[in-house]
Amino acid sequence: LIYIFNRFVGRFIAIAMVAFCIGLFQHLAPFQTSFTWYWFIYGYIVWEFGHFLYHYWGHKVRLFWCLHSTHHAPENMNLTVTYAHFFLEAPYADTIRTTVCILLGVKPELLFLIMFIDGTYGAFIHVGENLLKDGRLGFLNKIILTPSHHRVHHARNPLYMDTNFCNLLNIWDKFFGTYQDEDKNIKVEYGITRKMDSGNFLDVYFGEIVALFKDVYKAPGLKNKLLYVIMPPGWDHSGEHKTAKIVRDNYLITHKVKN
Ligand SMILES: [Zn+2]
Ligand SMILES: [Zn+2]
Repeated sequence: LIYIFNRFVGRFIAIAMVAFCIGLFQHLAPFQTSFTWYWFIYGYIVWEFGHFLYHYWGHKVRLFWCLHSTHHAPENMNLTVTYAHFFLEAPYADTIRTTVCILLGVKPELLFLIMFIDGTYGAFIHVGENLLKDGRLGFLNKIILTPSHHRVHHARNPLYMDTNFCNLLNIWDKFFGTYQDEDKNIKVEYGITRKMDSGNFLDVYFGEIVALFKDVYKAPGLKNKLLYVIMPPGWDHSGEHKTAKIVRDNYLITHKVKN
């Protein structure tokens, strides 16, 4: 019952936020797209940019990681992972994605079509090794984001951490340098780096929030308390940071891996 509540209440708030953002920002757009194939491509590229922003901040801002970490808790990959989300994540994600699209002139009808395709493809990239062993999809792996790329995104291996934030078109990962191919020699280990019980509902949904509260409570001074909320997970007021970037950079230096 809690799972159903979590899912439907989150969806409901998200739809309300989408409507709110359209009403608030549509008149500020410098132009409006029409319903044609070339504006569809434009809209999709803009949508992926909004997706990249929400998803990147979901990993790099500790407060937003509290919302997004639920999706990274599962230690196996299968289609049910698509539905593992904290209920406030969809409102957060859709607010950013809708705002970006509407401000850049994407017409609401076009936005809804893109959202539908994005949601459908977003479910497919969580297909597990049991159904699709090689997630590369052949030559498509060079052009679009495949299940293989998203498996890498869900991995806690140092090389794979905080990469592949896009959903279907991975141009923004390539542009911002967060693109990472699956390495045949490095088996994907799913989950997050914090020691947790992935079978415990409370730990999966609230574990990161509790951990953040503890860090804020213990941090000396208001500035440090605030920094814990906005800095990336792993940031430490002592200066001994263990962020994903530091872990990955150290790995790249010691292993001399070329991207
Ligand atoms: Zn993620
Ligand atoms: Zn995912």
